Amino acid sequence: LRRSPAEPEFHQAVREVLETIGPVVSQHPEYVRQKLLERIAEPERQIIFRVPWADDNGEVHVNRGYRVEYNSALGPYKGGLRFHPSVSLGIVKFLGFEQVFKNALTGMPIGGAKGGADFDPKGRSDSEIMRFCQSYMTELHRHVGEYTDVPAGDIGVGERELGYLFGQYKRITNRYESGVLTGKGLTWGGARVRREATGYGTVFFVQEMLAQRDQSLDGKTVVVSGAGNVAIHAIEKAQALGARAIACSDSSGYVHDPDGIDVALLKQIKDVERAPIATYAARRRPGARFVPGRPVWELPCEVALPCATQNELTEADAAALVAGGVLAVAEGANMPCTPEAVRVLRAAGVPFAPGKAANAGGVATSALEMQQNASRDSWTFEHTEARLAEIMGEIHRLCADTAARYGAPGDYVLGANMAGFIRVADAMLALGLV
Ligand code: NDP
Repeated sequence: LRRSPAEPEFHQAVREVLETIGPVVSQHPEYVRQKLLERIAEPERQIIFRVPWADDNGEVHVNRGYRVEYNSALGPYKGGLRFHPSVSLGIVKFLGFEQVFKNALTGMPIGGAKGGADFDPKGRSDSEIMRFCQSYMTELHRHVGEYTDVPAGDIGVGERELGYLFGQYKRITNRYESGVLTGKGLTWGGARVRREATGYGTVFFVQEMLAQRDQSLDGKTVVVSGAGNVAIHAIEKAQALGARAIACSDSSGYVHDPDGIDVALLKQIKDVERAPIATYAARRRPGARFVPGRPVWELPCEVALPCATQNELTEADAAALVAGGVLAVAEGANMPCTPEAVRVLRAAGVPFAPGKAANAGGVATSALEMQQNASRDSWTFEHTEARLAEIMGEIHRLCADTAARYGAPGDYVLGANMAGFIRVADAMLALGLV
């Protein structure tokens, strides 16, 4: 960590894993002998590049692009691209580090990576987005490929951006290499359920958590943060399973709709119009209200799903959730709960699922997309969703069993970290000092 000063999110993610895997390391002296901890914390490769582009007025802008290829012991590097002004090397490294263990938990043959740029897509026209994506891929294309590194979407990178990225890759390489990206549109190599997978998967994980206590989502009140890909589909699946999702948010504030969020309206506003969340309250029947600048966690709920961004749910938010009687918290986003928030939830005995387990459905379905691309096949929605539910059940079982085996039953943080670490460490040992 001394080698990476001024990267607080990266330090936070590494500490969180290292602090929990003690029992595993003490039973495996070979991990220490072979310096597995030091090797696993160091990315295999970090790529930083200039992304020049011109806006609609001809003015030239320069952004910084990143791809951190973290670990390829289990398969080709795999992980999303984030376009957001907050993106820095430390953010990309934290996300890449998390991705390594998350991908291991899925049981699929994929290594871990993450990338992105400090580009702000907000307010940019379609053609500006296209030119930025083309410039980004003009550099990235030499580092990615079906067998080397397979990016996907993340914050600020959805189907539109992936289309422009794929188009540029195809043009430069003259190869219709569908397996180079996942999250593609259905007419150009994409797979059904990928769009929904992270949000749906998080809810499937919550179902498993509640089932441990002989409960279900039916009739439960759910609060979600964010209003992007993960949040929208978490709300959709939670409602389909009988819950009432009463609120969601974006960076301007939250909407509270006591009758339950109207998912079709939310999709229209966020996916089509790309408007702020206040628009939802303005259009929805009376009863829905927009609350600017406040955390959505001030609303009492039984299930809380943070699905926006890192460190958005603080100690005070966690205390408010506990006071409101929350029964389960699952991270749809990556590291949305601060370490202090996690401590509050665990001290109160609230079941808590970390992102690397709860939101692994997205990357697992990306691996299913890679399978379909490799076999030039296209599975039905029902088949793919059933596979996703099965995979989330397996991840839940693996985390729960591992936690119990190491003396911490019900602790999903320990279970996820230890199970993910063992899979990656064993593969690294098998491959030798590379
Ligand atoms: P999107 O860009 O689709 O949506 C992000 C949402 O979060 C937007 O509504 C955004 O609002 C909101 N947001 C961002 N910052 C804040 C903030 N400080 N407070 C409140 N809301 C905020 O991204 P995704 O839904 O794809 O990703 C969300 C999270 O899930 C990220 O942590 C990502 O890494 C993680 N994830 C995503 C996966 C996927 O398949 N997409 C897979 C696994 C994890 P605004 O528009 O105002 O900025």
